[in-house]
Amino acid sequence: MNEQPTYFSRNRPISLEHHWLPFTPNRDFRADPRLIARAEGMYYYTPDDRPVLDMSGALWCSHLGHGRKEIGQAIAEQFPVLDYAPSFGFGHTISFELADRLSAILPDGLGHILFTNSGSESCDTAIKVAYAYHHARGQSGRKKIIGRQKGYHGVGFGGLSAGGITANRTAFGSWLPADHLRHTHLPEKNAFTRGLPEHGVELAEELAELIAFHDASTVAAVVVEPVIGAGGVYLPPKGYLKRLREICDQAGVLLILDEVITGFGRLGSPFASQEFDVTPDILTMAKGLTAATVPMGAVAVADSVHDEIMARGPEGGVELLHGYTYSAHPLACAASIACLDVYERENLLTRASGPVGDALGDALFSLRDLPEVVDIRHYGFIGAVEFRPGEKPGKRGQAIFKACWKEGLMVRALGDIIAVSPPLVIEQDQVGEFAEKFRRAVETTLA
Ligand code: PMP
Repeated sequence: MNEQPTYFSRNRPISLEHHWLPFTPNRDFRADPRLIARAEGMYYYTPDDRPVLDMSGALWCSHLGHGRKEIGQAIAEQFPVLDYAPSFGFGHTISFELADRLSAILPDGLGHILFTNSGSESCDTAIKVAYAYHHARGQSGRKKIIGRQKGYHGVGFGGLSAGGITANRTAFGSWLPADHLRHTHLPEKNAFTRGLPEHGVELAEELAELIAFHDASTVAAVVVEPVIGAGGVYLPPKGYLKRLREICDQAGVLLILDEVITGFGRLGSPFASQEFDVTPDILTMAKGLTAATVPMGAVAVADSVHDEIMARGPEGGVELLHGYTYSAHPLACAASIACLDVYERENLLTRASGPVGDALGDALFSLRDLPEVVDIRHYGFIGAVEFRPGEKPGKRGQAIFKACWKEGLMVRALGDIIAVSPPLVIEQDQVGEFAEKFRRAVETTLA
């Protein structure tokens, strides 16, 4: 191939042909790339050193901004001590330290932690734990999963089956038996609500209907994000999650809350479970666990579920036949503990409920007068501005996303919804910078 490299990495010429980017229109990208060369604090920098404000916390994950020295140092210090050790049949000390630290901030009763390397692995692990629980209780017929329309639980076959974003499923089918609760978005009643929507709690009753329809003896778990993220940033109607919890309890169905986005302070409490006062049987994490510095995920399992699986395990044998080579990788453990230290020292896990979280809400709602805005949603450090679709769904969102990049602003386009989820360390003036740049981007795009 006769390639003419015009881009460089560390002074070496690169082509854009060989890295097939995930969830990216690659042909479009190669023609007009958005390249990132470095990052510091709240900003990314392009190869020509243009700053780009990170209003999406990368992929809802860079909770500490970029390049925090404490985290880099913790990883560097761990490397010569213990670079890697298996955790199949062995245990390395730093993983137990991390599990202790996590159990101290997780909702009460979720005291048993499995480590993974990503949110997708966490979701698949959570579903397998639910299966193992029912199997241990002699109810192996419970295999159906109930997710939600617009739900996103990663790209493993379990998470994809529970997920409810149509476009992500079409090319692949779905493998686990699953059904989905209706979308709770009621724009005619709830548009432009700040915080949790007032209307829609009654939609939770559909869960009882679905469980009855499938027969409770076939249903393993309900899998939902407390706040739908990748599906478009939809907050749960007031009381909705609590009602799901009650219905699960009545039917012996486990409740899995996917806190991959909402965990680690996104909403103003360490976890959404605490913010919304709903304790799941299984809780998935990733992203903020290491603030994206090293890949890591985790699954917290309720004592009741853990104890059941452990009690029925074969004498002297493995109780849960599941795990990954890199489960609890020591470098990721070191990064995670260093993140927890910073979260605690700087009170970051509750910062979203303070003045900067409010300022983000004010900034988002100040954009209401922009053309074609049909809804604005906000809670803590997450928010969205939804635009009326243009000639083709998603095209307007993509145009605004590109214009934001040109303005020096990183946001996420979810169809025609622009989502923001900044690092927890964002300051007031950066909230203002976001609002200004976003306004300019939208005005240029829709001029
Ligand atoms: N669950 C949720 C709620 C997510 O938002 C994501 C990722 N955005 C995942 C699971 C999958 O995580 P990962 O991309 O790390 O596999």
